[in-house]
Parts: sequence; C-alpha cells; structure tokens
Amino acid sequence: MESLQHLYQTLGITPLIYEYGEHALTLLSPRFSEIDARAEYNQLKVLRAMQQNRVSEACLLGTTGYGYNDLGRDTLEAVYASVFHTQDALVRPQITCGTHALALALMSNLRPGDELLSPVGKPYDTLEEVIGIRPSRGSLAEYGITYRQVDLLPDGSFDYDKIRENIRENTRLATIQRSKGYQTRPTLSVERIGELIAFLKSCKSDLICMVDNCYGEFVETIEPGDVGADMVVGSLIKNPGGGLAPIGGYIAGTKECVENAARRLTSPGLGKEVGASLGILSAFYQGLFLAPTVTAGALKGAIFAANLYENLGFPVIPNGREPRYDIIQAVTFGTPQGVTAFCQGIQAAAPVDSFVTPEPWDMPGYDAPVVMAAGAFVSGSSIELSADGPIKPPYAVYFQGGLTWQHAKFGILKSLQTLVDKGVLTEKDVERAQQNLRKSAR
Ligand SMILES: *Cc1c(COP(=O)(O)O)cnc(C)c1O
Repeated sequence: MESLQHLYQTLGITPLIYEYGEHALTLLSPRFSEIDARAEYNQLKVLRAMQQNRVSEACLLGTTGYGYNDLGRDTLEAVYASVFHTQDALVRPQITCGTHALALALMSNLRPGDELLSPVGKPYDTLEEVIGIRPSRGSLAEYGITYRQVDLLPDGSFDYDKIRENIRENTRLATIQRSKGYQTRPTLSVERIGELIAFLKSCKSDLICMVDNCYGEFVETIEPGDVGADMVVGSLIKNPGGGLAPIGGYIAGTKECVENAARRLTSPGLGKEVGASLGILSAFYQGLFLAPTVTAGALKGAIFAANLYENLGFPVIPNGREPRYDIIQAVTFGTPQGVTAFCQGIQAAAPVDSFVTPEPWDMPGYDAPVVMAAGAFVSGSSIELSADGPIKPPYAVYFQGGLTWQHAKFGILKSLQTLVDKGVLTEKDVERAQQNLRKSAR
C-alpha cells in the first residue's frame, strides 16, 4: 500500500511541511476532543429535532407552483425552530443568501419612523447598503428608518452607558452580529450575546433583538435563541447547510417576527403558505444533519491554521489557544506576496478548479484588489475550504471552512507549502517554527 506520507508528496507536500503539521497536531488533541464532544451534542440535538417533528420520506420530496401544503418545507421549518429553540422559522431557497435573510428580517420588522440600533459596532459590509450607511437604492434609510451605532469599547466589551443613551422611544430593533466577520474585534460568545440581550430588554422590554448568526451555528452547544434572541438569522451556504444546501437562508424566531418576514418574502395574505420547495429539501435536511460534524471539521482546520502560522511568527486572530465562537481564521502576512501565495495554496488544494491560479482583481464594492480562493462544489460556499484577502495593509487573509477536517488540514499544509515554494518563507523558517513547537510542548 502507498504510504500516507507518499500520498501527501504526490500532492506536493514535502516531508518537512508534513512533519511540521504532525508536530503541531500532537499538541492539539485536547482541543480537538472538546470539539468532538460539542459535535456529538449538536448531532443529537439535530437528530432529536428531526425525530420529534416526525420527518418522513415524504418530507424529502418537493412541491411546484404555489407550493401549498408543502409538508417537507413546513416540517423543515419546525425542525429549525426546534434546533434553534425558537417559536417558528422560515427556511427557504427563495432567500438567496445571508445578506438577503438579514435584509428580509430587518425590512419586515421595521416600519417608517422606527430606528435600528447596532450595539456592537459596524455591521457586516453588505449590510451597509441594506441599512443605508452607504446610500443605496431601496435601503432602510429610503423608507425613513434611521440607524444608530454604538461601538464596542477598546477592550471589546459592551459600552453599556452609551447603549442605554442610544435606546430611544422609536428604537424598535437591535442587530447583534455574532461573528467578527472581516473585522478584528472578538467574536461574541452566545453567553455574551445573552448578557447584551438581557441589558437591552431591561432598557426597553419590547425591543426586538436580532442576531446575525452567520458562521456561528453549531460552534457552541447553545444558540442565540437559547438566550432570548427574537430572531436568529443566517445563510445555508455556511454552517447550517452542511455543504449540501446549494442556496438558501433562514430566520428562526418568535411567531410574530417570522410571520412578518414571511409576509415580506411572499406577500401579505400569503405569508408562509406559499413558496414551492421544488426538489431542494433533501439537501436541506441532509445538510442540517451533517452540519454539526462539518462545522467541527472547519473549526479544527481554523485552530490548526492558527497554530501553524502563529509559530511561524505571523499574527493570527483568534490566536492558537483562545476559545472560538465562529469558524473564521485571520492570518496577517504583512506582504501582498504572502496573501496571494496563501490563497493560491488553498485553491490548489480544492477538489474543483484546483488547476486555476487565483490572482488579485478589482472586485466591485471593494476599495482594493482582492484575491480569492474558492474551489467549491457550491459556488461561493464558505463552509467549503475558502480564503480571501484584500491587497492592502495589513495584508491579512481570512480563511474558513473545509467539509472535512482531513481536507481542511490538507489545504492548510498546501497553503504553507505554497508560501515556501514561492519564496515567501524559507525551509529554515519552517524548521525554526518546529523547534518553537518542541519548546512549547515541554
Ligand atoms: C457571510 C455573512 C453575511 C452575508 O452573507 P452572504 O451569504 O454572503 O450574503 C452577513 N453577516 C456575516 C457576519 C457574514 O459572515
């Protein structure tokens, strides 16, 4: 039989890089065990939700046309509500992506004259146009919905005094982003989100608290619905789709919030009753079923990457040891060459389009060229192994995903190999890093 190391070699990984990876791994087993334990818990949570809601073979079929009496769609929404511990949920292929899900949740639950508050600083880039922070046609601002933002304190904590001051008579909804996204603030744990929601409700009891849950699902054993969120919102081409959902978004929340969203997605009077699922439901069910273990694999990959690159002297967020609340890993290379080589390595590790070489390009909506690696089965899916980096200081890449831990591991080794092959790092650098690991093991 061909040895594993030889197999790695045929895929371009030299013994030096392979050994360095194996060395780093020996130190990570306690953390990986914790991740496995959480995946086991979440697997049972999902399974129980499917059993209790009596998912049947008929649920895997789809409807066409109006989609009246779509058993599979309605049951899947009940399953999501059970998993996220909310009263109801809207889970639809007609919700095209995460931004759409968030926009839908906001636009359906806010009315002209209402104010939206972000108590956790600037929201995700694509929401700037939704809210109207960057003027845009059809934004909330155009409909007379105003916006206020309270930044986190420099140490990452909530600015409770300012938040209280900024909750006014017409403040109707607070948006709380769990993941740091592409910022450098810490990602919020569900526990911290719960503290914030309790404070917000103590200031104004009828304030709707929405959580942007993107990249956070199944990273912990509780979700924002467990700590009082009125709406929990995310994308199915991230964690909860398990890599199988080819499109979609979800809003889990109170009956009223979800009904408002349904009426905006379809129409007043129709709400959740229409919306054919076509043939997509078996991918949604099976993806959700796999999501806890897929997310666990992505998390292991992120931790592995943090440790490999931290030991090489690159700043990493989060660092190799701290707890994690999402699957994103940032590595700062400090040079354009580093960013590009890393992304080229990730691309070369992909099951699809591995022969393509990504180069930086001027993407619409960005103020600097961006290099992206995405050799995914589902276009743009970021639960699959993917990375991107803007070519501007501090020259950081954002890395996430991996449908299996084994593939995430290979991708990270391949990124490091590419940095060496392109001369961004030398073999000596890697040898030195391995010695650092030996020291920290003692
Ligand atoms: C990905 C993401 C979004 C937007 O989702 P898209 O599917 O890319 O539209 C919003 N918020 C956060 C925190 C995200 O990570």
